[in-house]
Amino acid sequence: MRIRANLLVENANELLTLADGGVVSGGPRTGQAMRELGVVEGGSVAALADRIVAVGRADEVRARVDLVPDAHIINATGKVVLPGLVDPHTHLVFAGSREHEFIQRAEGRSYMDILASGGGILSTVRATRAAPASELVDLALRRLDVMLCHGTTTVEIKSGYGLSVDEELKCLRAIRELPAHHPMDIVATFLGAHAVPPEYRGDPDGYVFCVIEEMIPRVTEEGLAEFCDAFCEDGVFSIDQSRRILEAGKAFGLAARLHADEITPMGGAELAAEIEAVSADHLLCASSQGMRRMAEAGVVTTLLPATSFTLMVGRYADARAFIDAGCAVALATDFNPGTSPTLSMQFVMNLAALGMRLHPAEIICACTINAAHAIGRGHEVGSLEVGKLADIVIAEVDTHLKLPYQLGTNIVDTVIKRGQLVVSGGRRIAP
Ligand SMILES: [Zn+2]
Repeated sequence: MRIRANLLVENANELLTLADGGVVSGGPRTGQAMRELGVVEGGSVAALADRIVAVGRADEVRARVDLVPDAHIINATGKVVLPGLVDPHTHLVFAGSREHEFIQRAEGRSYMDILASGGGILSTVRATRAAPASELVDLALRRLDVMLCHGTTTVEIKSGYGLSVDEELKCLRAIRELPAHHPMDIVATFLGAHAVPPEYRGDPDGYVFCVIEEMIPRVTEEGLAEFCDAFCEDGVFSIDQSRRILEAGKAFGLAARLHADEITPMGGAELAAEIEAVSADHLLCASSQGMRRMAEAGVVTTLLPATSFTLMVGRYADARAFIDAGCAVALATDFNPGTSPTLSMQFVMNLAALGMRLHPAEIICACTINAAHAIGRGHEVGSLEVGKLADIVIAEVDTHLKLPYQLGTNIVDTVIKRGQLVVSGGRRIAP
């Protein structure tokens, strides 16, 4: 029986399916499986409405599908076709910007030094609190357009620049409003524990009490988030405070994720394993024991090389050690106004290749299927398989080896989101 389709992307030089091909069973990829991209040379993918209905060699797909009369056919000859990129860690909703911190860092001031003097996160908190929700939505929509043009089709967004009950709710409601105006799929995370706000200076436990007793119940009552996160760092939130916050979140149905072991070794990786977080992120200072525990507990390792680059720390998280320990590695932008002002997963790919020395196939896996698992969407996106969302990117290159290779320009030509053409010729088009 032939399958109906209204979209056909045809005859790619390489179609990267990321289909598991029996190497794994539905989970994130680890070890050698991170290099299995399921490449089909001369490959096609067909969709009906928002779902993929056929994937395979061009002639096989043509033989299998019945195109409806007004079907959209896109010729991908000479190009690489891959799943829409997934960005599993961003702080995309905020007002203001922090370009002056580039100068401060160039003059030798550290991130924690800038934060301690009222800059950093807290300057974004002031600007975000001063902005009406409608402005936050408008700013976020423009950023989502840029992401889409660079091939990202699913994004996680955290709150964390409000830091009071009302302001955190304002930011989360702004995140909730975005899908009504934008095709991007969005996963919301409550990050009330991003920094201790000025109102609680010197009383971090008082603020932790507010996060647990006031914020989490309100956030879940309105259904505003799927995940709860905490910035576990020396001088921000301790292991014990982070544990209490994430356990409270879990008790209210919020899955856990964690900013762990970024600047100082804290045992954040071990905590992520202990509380069975879906993902632990940053991890420059994770211990080898922490890596092993994360692997055993199935915590996805989400690495953020653009942040290390921007902070000029001179090194990156040890991606190879995580892979060798058996962890599933994902990559994300960490888009935020202070420490990672990039919306481009392509830039992250470049840094993963040049800074972390990952193999191109590992990088692509980390930005697609593993990134999808890092936000609990592995069943919906991250690979080109029948039944999954038709989130498809066409890149102006002839081999996937060039995806992390070409620096500083956008190589994404076409983006299809849920079966709809949303970027063509590198430009955003309706809907
Ligand atoms: Zn972050």
